[in-house]
Amino acid sequence: MDKIAIKNDQDYEISILRERISELEGLTERLRQSEERYRYFFETSPVGIYRTTPEGRILLCNQRLLDMLGYDSFEGIKDRDLEGDGSEPYYPRARFKQLLKIKGEAEILEAAWIKKDGSIIYVRENARAVKDKNGEIIYYEGRVEDITERKNLEQAKEDFISTAAHELRTPLTSLQGYLALLDKEHHGLADKEQAYINKLVKAAHRLHEIVEDLLSVIRLDHRPNVDLVAFQLEPVMEEAANEWRLKAKEERKSIILETQGDYVIQGEPEYTKKIISNLIGNAVKYTENGGTIRITNSRSADDNQPMVLVTVEDNGVGIAKEHHQDIFTKFFRAPNPLSVKAGGTGLGLYIVRQLVEIQHGRIWMESERGVGSKFSFTLPLLDKSRQLPLIQ
Ligand code: ADP
Repeated sequence: MDKIAIKNDQDYEISILRERISELEGLTERLRQSEERYRYFFETSPVGIYRTTPEGRILLCNQRLLDMLGYDSFEGIKDRDLEGDGSEPYYPRARFKQLLKIKGEAEILEAAWIKKDGSIIYVRENARAVKDKNGEIIYYEGRVEDITERKNLEQAKEDFISTAAHELRTPLTSLQGYLALLDKEHHGLADKEQAYINKLVKAAHRLHEIVEDLLSVIRLDHRPNVDLVAFQLEPVMEEAANEWRLKAKEERKSIILETQGDYVIQGEPEYTKKIISNLIGNAVKYTENGGTIRITNSRSADDNQPMVLVTVEDNGVGIAKEHHQDIFTKFFRAPNPLSVKAGGTGLGLYIVRQLVEIQHGRIWMESERGVGSKFSFTLPLLDKSRQLPLIQ
């Protein structure tokens, strides 16, 4: 009786074991197939794929990435030290590592890498940090696209615009000078002649603004470093508003300044004035006669950092919803009943956004067609521990 029971137990265990073995075999086969699929995608991928350690060692790199960097085999590239002094002078590695540490991933980072022959390739990469169960980073894994051709085209376009704008500047300055002389010294002109001169002065001024905007865009696209200073915001807001009071009065538009305090900012006062002046200028431009432009400041916070929030609101023609996402991009102009008369290049808000971001602020807008628009931006309040020079 006992013997039979043991035999049955053994049979049962053996059958369980067989089941487990066949499950394991199935799993191993699936693993093999998925590894094969991964290897296939890895080797034939049209984008470069890599795996590197936080210390800058290359663990893995597919054929596409080897081709991009001009290496024949992994053997040739594997000893490259990504942390090594000078081996990747344009690579924003510190920023890359910081992003991966804080966010666990880095999206659409643009960088310039050095090829085997010393020439430069521009890349766009997405990367993520792979961590162990304690949250320590084991390696980085990334996808890389070669954007050299696009970058070179952009550079050629920029060089052209920059040369053209610089070349236009000199004759334009003399044109404006002589027009100012004519305007000042020639009295007794017929009304018609004076009207022509006024039109010429306006046109030359507009041309001057376009040339300066183009030069600003090129300068700002390279994200210049700014020396931050401490300054009071209220006088800057007042100066910016004053630049538009005369025009607003002529068009029966009111500019109302409502400040909640005189905050001290850490930033660049000229840039800040330009931001506010540009937003007020747009509010004046895109509001029908008799409209109201309201400018405010108040305390706010971005990610716990103390900030000041500035808003410029109008009850003008507004912007249709489908154009909201493009409003801060280069050369974008939304059609509206006043845009032809108002004229413009579509560069103003692009410049404004750059100027806000250079000062570590954020900008956004809300608008409804036929109701009005509200542009808001933040700038960091002075961090008193930073001992910045105070500009009066
Ligand atoms: P520009 O005014 O030279 O066209 P901007 O970059 O300053 O260029 O503005 C881009 C577009 O955004 C404008 O053409 C206009 O359509 C829209 N816009 C900007 N500000 C306002 C505003 N306050 N009200 C309505 N539309 C605006």
